[in-house]
Amino acid sequence: MRLSTLPLRVLGAALFLAGLAVAPPARAADTPTTVPVVLAVELSADHRERVLAAIREWNDALNGSVRFEIEANGARAGVWTVIPVPKSELRNGPESLALTFAFPAGGGVVCLYLDRLGGRDITGVMLHEFGHVLGLTHDGGGQLMSTRYSWHDMKCIDHGTMLQVAAHYKLRIDELKWCGPPAAH
Ligand SMILES: [Zn+2]
Repeated sequence: MRLSTLPLRVLGAALFLAGLAVAPPARAADTPTTVPVVLAVELSADHRERVLAAIREWNDALNGSVRFEIEANGARAGVWTVIPVPKSELRNGPESLALTFAFPAGGGVVCLYLDRLGGRDITGVMLHEFGHVLGLTHDGGGQLMSTRYSWHDMKCIDHGTMLQVAAHYKLRIDELKWCGPPAAH
């Protein structure tokens, strides 16, 4: 599949699916939920390392309850693929640095719009997008899952974000790790 055609086809699917909620996966007791991730070969070595840094930080915060695992092959259902888009051809809203699309059968795509990222920290952007991959929604008063990109607020996984994770995956908050002080709410 040519890179230049893939994002447009994916975007079409995502628009069609807009509004579908991501259902939390069934979780058997004591069985970690695994989130398979494939990094598109088009990612540069530098970008790949920054995405991997976000995955390492999430796996540390998730503390074994849920785990991102890198896979080499995306040709199966349920996989999340990170795809760089060097030049965005459609405007999907101001300040959209990346977009995460969930497929109804599980898995999905994270598009990184390289031409909009400028000098922003890709690890921070991916920390936010992997939150969406986990099923989290935007939290207007939050930090990592805020709607607006902020280098300061998106440099690590805050307590408010992990409260969402705990609720979504039916985990105890003390099973998880986070940065900074507890959220006020
Ligand atoms: Zn977002």
